[in-house]
Amino acid sequence: MNANMYVFMMRFFRFIRKFVPYGIRKSNFIQKSWSLLRPKLSETNKDKQTHLRYFEVHLTDHCNLNCKACSHFCPVADDNFLDVESFRRDCIRLAELTNGNILVIRLMGGEPLLHPQVTVFFDIARKYFPHTKIAVVSNGILLPKQPDTFWQSCKKNRIEVHISNYPIKIDRETITQKAATFDVVLVDIENTNKEWKKYFVLDIHGQGDCQKSFDNCAQANNCTNLREGKIYVCPTVAYISFFNKYFEQNLETTEQDYLDIYKVKNQQEIFDFLCKPMPFCRYCNVENQESLEWGVSKREISEWT
Ligand code: SF4
Ligand code: SF4
Repeated sequence: MNANMYVFMMRFFRFIRKFVPYGIRKSNFIQKSWSLLRPKLSETNKDKQTHLRYFEVHLTDHCNLNCKACSHFCPVADDNFLDVESFRRDCIRLAELTNGNILVIRLMGGEPLLHPQVTVFFDIARKYFPHTKIAVVSNGILLPKQPDTFWQSCKKNRIEVHISNYPIKIDRETITQKAATFDVVLVDIENTNKEWKKYFVLDIHGQGDCQKSFDNCAQANNCTNLREGKIYVCPTVAYISFFNKYFEQNLETTEQDYLDIYKVKNQQEIFDFLCKPMPFCRYCNVENQESLEWGVSKREISEWT
């Protein structure tokens, strides 16, 4: 997609947000359309990329739900709140590298609504990425309790509220009513209610084939993470330190497993990094995927291995 096409798409989705009735927007229409714009970045298409398509960022590392086998290792993370100034610095740098053209940014966790300054992140993200689709991704538990100022900030900053759909009871009526009252786009992220898909199994001995794991990995450069000035191809490598610390393991990350946004000269270097495997991929036994029923984590290593 070239730059003109990018601007056209941004305007098109803004038009939809403004004129398409709330009920239709809520039906995942925009969500599905956007997913079509996110083909996996590869060695063959990287030179045609004109902009970074996506990144997500943890506003908190901890979560109030603690799902079994969480792919971000949140059940075994320490409580941690993203520093506002660190996020501002990183946004300024990424906006500089990308000219502010990033398709989608998702503010998540952990559970982002645990962060007492959650709306400050909305202001910052919108300031530096005026045309980007920005969403806050929550498990929904705390949404009904959000004050009006939260919804006003979503409206003002054009932040969509995405709910990860777990088999738990949340007050959807209040959430839907609030979103409609404040004209905020609400999206239920489709997820199975019966099963919790385990994306991969870790091979703690790191005997895997990096290229094979990467090629078969659904997360690879589809779930790019930004964390403290560094870009990671996936949440696995970005948050493996939580796993290592809690279970006293040493799944090693090196400087080849992330990209320092303050050291790269242009966004092409980001594309070059994202499109190929890194040494850490040897720890992912991607071919050995499992599905398990959703449940609360018991913080046992077997959930991830
Ligand atoms: S709600 Fe999401 S972030 Fe929280 S533990 Fe479950 S999968 Fe992880
Ligand atoms: S480390 Fe590599 S194989 Fe493992 S989840 Fe990340 S991109 Fe996929």
